[in-house]
Amino acid sequence: MFTSKIYKKSPVLIQNIFLSTRSLVRKKLRENNKCEQYTQELIAHEYDSELLSKYHDKALNKTIKQARNTVEYYKSYDLDLKTFPFIDKLEVNSNKNKFLSPKKGAVIKGATSGTTGAPLVIPQNFQSVIAEHAFINRDLAWAGFKEGDKRAWIRGDMIVPLEQKQAPFWRYSYFENMIMLSSFHMAPTNLQSYINAMVNFGVQVIQAYPSSIATLAKYLEINNEYYPGEIKSVVTSSESLKKEDKHLIETRFKCTVFDWYGLFERVAAIASCEHGRYHILTDYAHVELLPAGKTEDGRDRAEIVGTNFNNSLYPLIRYKTGDHVILSDEKNCPCGRVFPIVDSIEGRTGDYLVAEDGQKVHILNHIPKGVEGLLGTQFVQKKDLSIVILVVVDESLFNKDQKYKLILNTKERLGESIKVNIKKVDAISRTKNGKIKQAIREF
Ligand SMILES: [Zn+2]
Repeated sequence: MFTSKIYKKSPVLIQNIFLSTRSLVRKKLRENNKCEQYTQELIAHEYDSELLSKYHDKALNKTIKQARNTVEYYKSYDLDLKTFPFIDKLEVNSNKNKFLSPKKGAVIKGATSGTTGAPLVIPQNFQSVIAEHAFINRDLAWAGFKEGDKRAWIRGDMIVPLEQKQAPFWRYSYFENMIMLSSFHMAPTNLQSYINAMVNFGVQVIQAYPSSIATLAKYLEINNEYYPGEIKSVVTSSESLKKEDKHLIETRFKCTVFDWYGLFERVAAIASCEHGRYHILTDYAHVELLPAGKTEDGRDRAEIVGTNFNNSLYPLIRYKTGDHVILSDEKNCPCGRVFPIVDSIEGRTGDYLVAEDGQKVHILNHIPKGVEGLLGTQFVQKKDLSIVILVVVDESLFNKDQKYKLILNTKERLGESIKVNIKKVDAISRTKNGKIKQAIREF
């Protein structure tokens, strides 16, 4: 809708009405009694390990049984998870129709972002959409959100036409009490107007892409300021959130960040709580952690492999996500919830650079560390392994020394022989979904 000619050509007020009406329809569809009931059920077992494991076991058994009985791909397996093969995106893409069970009711199609390899189209049933919404509701409850609270939404929706160069870079969704801000107009000179718009609206909870909210936090840091309003929490998802950025956002917005890891395949969800621990949501999906080597500082890394509970139309069992977590020794969280804890989620496997010795370097957050005046960075690696670092900078701080430091840091991680160039840009370009990739490899 947002890219249609009629929307783009409408005055801002009409765009607000368009957007609000669309949100109202969606809200009515999703937030029915069933969804509310489901949310309450999910909240009821998060402090009770017995209830939770009962729920998990029942959901897993049901998933396996349904998959075996209705889906061609799984028809020859026993009702024992261990006998099922591991699958991945490529396997599903090559056997698309074999995972589809006979359709009942509406089918909603969605695709993975496909930043690495071909995008995967996953058909979902309505139940899957409701379930997803119930989990989001519970996550918002963790973040202190109460029905009617004013929200800001900065999540890559094309609500403001790209051609528009003047504020307002935001629109309103009246029935949701929400200001939606564009992720595509965040040039340094526009950022103060974003902060002002949120303060004027009286925002209480911010839902944002990590890259979008981190851009605002960096802007506040560079200007030695803090967000001048009172925020309950920031809720992030859909991109990997770097530890440094989480800390920066929490400092500059003076509140806790609640981060959510999920994927369109719906085979795993991991959410951080008010104590900053990442919990694997064992009522969302069955997650297995496959050993995947060690980190540079000797900690255990594992790949997330998941079985989805909530989409019987397209069951995926033991699906290898290609995403990694760092394991934790902690068994109990001060928050009291009984979900298992992992230390952190590593960047998507797509987000890495290749060092001179051929090693993949995943953690790129250390490279810009200590370099002043950086508002955004993206690494583009060519076939000869040379790197162009695209940077959005505050000109008054990013001087020759800082530039030199950035090059030095890059070589330190990737090797002295790697050629590094720095290119200033107005903004880091986003994918179709408005996300920012930390690294792009052109080979
Ligand atoms: Zn916790």
